[in-house]
Amino acid sequence: MTTVGILGGGQLARMLALSGAPLGLRFLVMDNVADACAGQFAPMVVGDYRDQAALAEFASRVDVATFDFENVPAESAQWLAARVDVFPNPRALAIAQDRLAEKTHFRDLGIPVPPVATVDTLDGLRAAVDAIGTPCILKTRRLGYDGKGQFRIREAADVDAAWAALGAQAPKVGLILEGFVAFERELSVVAVRGRDGEFRAWPLTENWHVDGVLSASLAPARVEPELEARAVAHARRLADALDYVGVFALELFCRDGDLLANELAPRVHNSGHWTIEGSETSQFQNHLRAVIGLPLGDTRMVGRACMLNWIGEMPDARAVLKEAGGHWHDYGKEPRAGRKVGHATLRADDDRTLAEALLRVGAALGREAQVAPVVERLSEA
Ligand code: AMP
Repeated sequence: MTTVGILGGGQLARMLALSGAPLGLRFLVMDNVADACAGQFAPMVVGDYRDQAALAEFASRVDVATFDFENVPAESAQWLAARVDVFPNPRALAIAQDRLAEKTHFRDLGIPVPPVATVDTLDGLRAAVDAIGTPCILKTRRLGYDGKGQFRIREAADVDAAWAALGAQAPKVGLILEGFVAFERELSVVAVRGRDGEFRAWPLTENWHVDGVLSASLAPARVEPELEARAVAHARRLADALDYVGVFALELFCRDGDLLANELAPRVHNSGHWTIEGSETSQFQNHLRAVIGLPLGDTRMVGRACMLNWIGEMPDARAVLKEAGGHWHDYGKEPRAGRKVGHATLRADDDRTLAEALLRVGAALGREAQVAPVVERLSEA
């Protein structure tokens, strides 16, 4: 009997635990809050990720450890890795935690990135804005996610406001300035690498964000095979270079046929939730197979799929459950503004059927704006 330990007890841990049940796996989840939603399906150790006593208890009760949350302190991951197998390895985690290290690593591997500069002071920010040009985005180097810790600089006059918003973070988590990419599409490669180096990617996914938070994902993305092959090659090079084990997502901006890497998520990813019903093997199942050293499952799609995120509160499930290809995921969380509380996946055999289902669901839930860009993409010739 194998017990998989998961650091972080949110919906990703919850879906990992659910998908691990058929493999006969047991789970232990560690989180700093007692009502973490994965705790509804797995026993928990409640404690801070820096609390060595809690980490020691966690380590003593698991055979292998992994993450639902990438901002676990790198020292805690290393401490744990000295006692139990930890996948992905702490180095991959550390790189993904630092937007500058991440971008530097991408560049070193020949993966194009948007222009980027470090910023330590207000004068430094002015110089960086001059060098990179506007529009651009000031971001915290660490601890940013879902558009948090970001400030968009539309013109040079916004520099003071940007510094007022994030300047205090400079000594704590560092700041970087990035050129704003006027992308046509946001894409992600969700892929998995096994302990033996075997690599598989799911079909490319197109993503739409609202206020920096994922709103909808469509798979397969409607892109040329050459572009998809390039995106997957980037992901593979990254995973091999980091000796990565498990699932990860590489987020890319696509502009004029170029792919620019935005970020590496060192874990199962929101843009891969559609794989639960839309592919032969889900990202959650394959992540577990990778970390415990089982053969990886096939990542081919079954039809096409669109995932809609529910942010803040759950809508009425019925509109989705009535659909032939409708699937509902309620994370069992309390509603709260901006919080990811659930998602739905609609699956169909062809684009037209999927677009029609999306239009019905959008109209029934008053979410026309959320489904509109996906329907538009599906309707393109
Ligand atoms: P991030 O937390 O870096 O993934 O950013 C969240 C979202 O903000 C991305 O998915 C994009 O929609 C947008 N964004 C972040 N960085 C850039 C950029 N350099 N250019 C354009 N949009 C960006």
